[in-house]
Amino acid sequence: MSDVSENLAEVVAKIDSACSRAGRNRSSVELIAVSKTFPVESIREAIDSGQDCFGESKLQEAEAKIALLPDRLHWHFIGRVQRNKVRKIVSQCEVIHAIDSTRLAEYTDEIGKELGLFPKVFLQVNIGKEESKGGFEPDELRLDIVRLMDLPRLEILGLMCIPPAAADPELARPWFVMLRKLRDSLQSDFTITLPFLSMGMSGDYEIAIEEGATHVRVGSAIFGERSYRVDGELG
Ligand SMILES: *Cc1c(COP(=O)(O)O)cnc(C)c1O
Repeated sequence: MSDVSENLAEVVAKIDSACSRAGRNRSSVELIAVSKTFPVESIREAIDSGQDCFGESKLQEAEAKIALLPDRLHWHFIGRVQRNKVRKIVSQCEVIHAIDSTRLAEYTDEIGKELGLFPKVFLQVNIGKEESKGGFEPDELRLDIVRLMDLPRLEILGLMCIPPAAADPELARPWFVMLRKLRDSLQSDFTITLPFLSMGMSGDYEIAIEEGATHVRVGSAIFGERSYRVDGELG
């Protein structure tokens, strides 16, 4: 087996155990293999091992890979979304994970209308209120959520976060709990449904699953260490 297929098998096994520990159905968690910066050959190895859902954070890179790989794959756009790229991202990716402002949500809704599509999105929450990260502040989201839910073309799947970086994965747990509770309180206060939580990366996806993640975004644990940093990564 190649490294990628071995790594992938290990990640899948860990997802299985995290689901059992948490008493969750395995089908309630989707693994997004984050292939940004990795070559098409690595993605093919993952496909050969049964993976069909991938995450990219740059439009150009995503487009190049999508063009070379089978149509049946599912592409998630996990990076920061620039307004001038929304049209292409919506056309090529099934889900956008980082809608970080009401203005961007409204624009994505307009583009959906224009293209005859219903974009599926997560609202990114700046859960640690970090200067360096994008996303709604929890209070801001509370003020705007009804307006967001009313956007006719946008299918809001739920909330997404990237917690503050920490050496110990356990330190991510309180942030995951906070995102889940924010989701729960928005649901009950506004009688809306936000069924999905996109949280957890290579270092902490098992903990994220224990705390309710439905979409984990795992890159380096599958494809190996990235040799360079992507601009806007983890924005
Ligand atoms: C790169 C990236 C990931 C994956 O990170 P790993 O630590 O390699 O698993 C997940 N989410 C976002 C938003 C990213 O930019």
